[in-house]
Amino acid sequence: MEATVEQKLRALFELQTIHTSIDKIRTIRGELPMEVADLEDDVAGLETRISKIKEEIAEFDENIANKKALMKQAAALIKKYEEQQNNVKNNREFEALTKEIEIQGLEIQVAEKKIKEYTFEINSKTKVLENAQTALVERQGDLDLKKAELDKITKETEKEEEALNKKAAKAEKDIEERLLIAYHKLRSNAKNGLAVVTVQRDSCGGCFNQIPPQRQVDIRQHKKIIVCEHCGRILVDDSFVAQEA
Ligand SMILES: [Zn+2]
Repeated sequence: MEATVEQKLRALFELQTIHTSIDKIRTIRGELPMEVADLEDDVAGLETRISKIKEEIAEFDENIANKKALMKQAAALIKKYEEQQNNVKNNREFEALTKEIEIQGLEIQVAEKKIKEYTFEINSKTKVLENAQTALVERQGDLDLKKAELDKITKETEKEEEALNKKAAKAEKDIEERLLIAYHKLRSNAKNGLAVVTVQRDSCGGCFNQIPPQRQVDIRQHKKIIVCEHCGRILVDDSFVAQEA
């Protein structure tokens, strides 16, 4: 059996009332879920940054170790060449060894210069690392606080919201699909989440524009689904409110 327009309007108004209650709960929770999500992003970003910097520092440490090994090798060679110079047969051999010693000496100089550069890099990266670690501790602290706050509020409102969601799902079953789609579209387009509004002081309860007297008469008769000419919201008279309460 097809529901009457009045039944349809009552079902829509009931659904709106339930959704308004859910909206109120979400307002109490406010911006917290978003703040928590933002902080989680921050923390994850800092953690990635910190591990990247640590990797970079480790790489410089490794480079320094390599250069030190190279210097040790060069020093050993120099020592060897100097010993050989004591046993040369002629000037030409002596000169050749002197040249080799010079080359190894240059190797050591280049390695020393590189080590200085790497040390400088490590120092500056360590500072960046320390800043990131401090920021991480702060953000993590903020996150823990906000999360605890959100958990508390969520727990307080969870049961209520769950019951309302169930109620809403049940109410939706009694509404034909076409109307339900229109309702949800109106609700998502409206900043205040209102798709069904009452006439208040001769005006639309959603956009507060005046409603002509004849239209108000039509609304009171519950024979047609009447929408606001300005905002498109479904209008009901306030006799619905009294019955809801
Ligand atoms: Zn309106």
